[in-house]
Amino acid sequence: MTSIVIRVRGARRWARGHPWVYRSDVLEPPSPVEAGIVRVLDPDGAPLGPALYSPVSEIRLRFLDRGEVEIDAAWWERRLRAALERRSDIGDTAFRIVHAEADGLPSLIVDRYGPYVAVQLLSAGLEAVRDDVLGAIRTAIAPAGIVLRNDVPIRAHEDLPREIETLGDVPDGVEVTMGGVRTRIDLRAGQKTGSFLDQRENHSLAGSVARGRGLDAFCYEGGFALHMAAGCEAVLAVDQSERALARVLENASLNGLDNLRTLEANAFDVLGETERGSERFDTIVLDPPAFARSRRSVPRALTGYKEINLRAMRLLTPGGSLLSFSCSYHVSRGAFEDMLADAAGDSGRRIAVVRWLGASRDHPAMLTIPESSYLKGAWLTAAE
Ligand code: SAH
Repeated sequence: MTSIVIRVRGARRWARGHPWVYRSDVLEPPSPVEAGIVRVLDPDGAPLGPALYSPVSEIRLRFLDRGEVEIDAAWWERRLRAALERRSDIGDTAFRIVHAEADGLPSLIVDRYGPYVAVQLLSAGLEAVRDDVLGAIRTAIAPAGIVLRNDVPIRAHEDLPREIETLGDVPDGVEVTMGGVRTRIDLRAGQKTGSFLDQRENHSLAGSVARGRGLDAFCYEGGFALHMAAGCEAVLAVDQSERALARVLENASLNGLDNLRTLEANAFDVLGETERGSERFDTIVLDPPAFARSRRSVPRALTGYKEINLRAMRLLTPGGSLLSFSCSYHVSRGAFEDMLADAAGDSGRRIAVVRWLGASRDHPAMLTIPESSYLKGAWLTAAE
């Protein structure tokens, strides 16, 4: 196996629990090394562990283990089984089985949807050993079919093609049950791997909080709206995607729900117009797409987050609840909380935090990897 030497700085990061080694911390090997698994050594030649090597990515190495360990079929199976075991008490039929670094499997995502799995291979090193990884998935998880959702933009940083492949037979609509709600999910065409599994537990929370008149802005296929409909008299589900709204209605009838109304519109406009009118809501969810795609766009993003949150706070009936989220990695938890405080200050309402929220437990964030935390949220209430 090829050995690669890294600088002390990279070795120290790894010793402190961060498995990525950047290009600048790698002492370039004398001849080109192909993507795959390599042995990593410190400048004195001591073995630091096996890692995935990506020849072009800024993240050159991703450590898999410490010391001298062979990465064979049994190793992949062990990590996969351990990841599955950590989630063995999840009652839903869809959830994330492997959340990359947090499960000791850097750049690998495996999501379960009923008997099928959706997989993402997010580094050149991992792609090079794809047969071993897929073999271990077949042994440890035994899915009825696999969809490779390798259509994500980050694959471009690894010089990998963006593509969707199906291995075995996977139908266009896979029915799953999460929090007691049935949903049909398209593993090939849906956003992410088909669904926002990181919000799975928050969807259920919305269901238990929901009452009266509900509003789900940025609803996508109804992750929140469908759960809210069970507790609300009526729910308005807003999105700018016609395709997503069609699925909200399909999923509503799958659950025998007839109190959901969809509206194809810009949620900013809907919130603004409603605020000027007299309609108010008892339960509101704001789960917009990431407004900040880069560090530079954070100030603008915060203006957007504040605008929708301020309007939503003003739209709450006395005692009403607002579940508000941001999935922008570049917007820190602190900045999100400050933004909400700012909006609450402007709203003229007495807004309390019932609970700070984050991603579901099948999406753990590593304390030692700041990059692994992105979803933050709050359950707020407005006083009488
Ligand atoms: N809440 C969903 C996920 C939302 S993803 C769930 O938990 O499943 C973000 C959604 O916002 C996408 O469906 C996208 O179409 C929609 N969207 C983005 N910008 C919008 C806008 N300005 N107005 C309305 N919808 C918007």
